[in-house]
Amino acid sequence: MLTNPIPYGRQHITEDDIQAVVETLQSDFLTQGPKVAQFEGAFAKYVGAKYAVAVSNGTAALHLCTLALGVNEQSRVITSPITFVASANCVRYCGGTVEFADIDPATALLDVEKVRQLVESKPRGYYAGIIPVDFAGNPVNLETFRQLADEHGLWLIEDAAHSPGGYFLDSQGEKQHCGNGRYADLAIFSFHPVKHIATGEGGMVTTNDEELYQKLLLYRTHGITRDAELLEEHHGGWYMEMQELGYNYRIPDMLSALGLSQLQRADAGLARRRGIAKVYYHAFAGVAGIEALSTNPAALHGEETGHAYHLYVIRVADRKGLYDFLRKHNIFAQVHYIPAHTMPYYRGLGYSEGDFPAAEHYYSECLSLPMYSSLSQQEQEFVIERVKEFVQR
Ligand SMILES: *Cc1c(COP(=O)(O)O)cnc(C)c1O
Repeated sequence: MLTNPIPYGRQHITEDDIQAVVETLQSDFLTQGPKVAQFEGAFAKYVGAKYAVAVSNGTAALHLCTLALGVNEQSRVITSPITFVASANCVRYCGGTVEFADIDPATALLDVEKVRQLVESKPRGYYAGIIPVDFAGNPVNLETFRQLADEHGLWLIEDAAHSPGGYFLDSQGEKQHCGNGRYADLAIFSFHPVKHIATGEGGMVTTNDEELYQKLLLYRTHGITRDAELLEEHHGGWYMEMQELGYNYRIPDMLSALGLSQLQRADAGLARRRGIAKVYYHAFAGVAGIEALSTNPAALHGEETGHAYHLYVIRVADRKGLYDFLRKHNIFAQVHYIPAHTMPYYRGLGYSEGDFPAAEHYYSECLSLPMYSSLSQQEQEFVIERVKEFVQR
């Protein structure tokens, strides 16, 4: 019997990672040095976007996006109830209104048809934008969201915190990598330790839009610019201007060095996650009482899949029973997510249970099993045995 706790997700730190951080500690720059731009450049290349802006965490990345898009008290923005609350909160930070739309029960992704019904029920200009989430690492079909957005003059922020390296196939059969800026105006990533790339705290915004890129840079550093082309006045070499009310959302050089080092292994980590998903899928296929969520059909047949598997979610009737049983065996499965609209804060804004039945039903059954690149085969087998033991007894 294994005794080491098995979490649902965790970071993987190598000697190279440690060395990269140590080198930065011994360099001239702890915060804004050369590693930030290197990390941004490498990350932009990794996802296939023109621009990347590294920030202090994924939530700050989302906030910079809503700032750059000019969200204000008049803005109404649609997102999924099945996501980390930051996807919705970033609208509230700018005083905007969050509107949820229900999920597609088959995938737990924001249902584009539900969003369409909402948008078409109101006059043009009523909504400002949509924030789809690549939940669990399963990439949203952004081409269909873009179509809807273009019809109604909406912007799109892709919350790709779960899906670095993931992709969907567009109508031309082309791979569209998450965060590549082809369909969404902006995309965000997180480098929290449970995510694919871990810097402790950290995040990234990617875009192909030069104007939005400039705004992100401005808002990341207090709204201050030193760019001679942007300055309204010129007093001398020291001169800078605070042109907007910005924030300090910078990421330090130390963490950028760690992110850069981790990025070198991103493809290997992703391949490992997909391998783990395949093992889970086959282990539970045909086991009564366990349903896999949104397993990309290609994964079942050993073909390539664009799913980035931040999470491996199963659905079981007695979810609480299984959760408690696994904990007793030192397996710390987790629930993703408690529907955002049922949180006391959003209830206080007028939402209530019953508003989004698909999301609420999904929540009653979902459980995320351990999924991270350093999960050993032996650990995964132990998890599988315990899950089967529970549902088959
Ligand atoms: C992790 C996460 C975030 C926020 O990232 P932080 O770096 O923790 O601030 C945003 N959206 C989703 C879907 C996430 O999973």
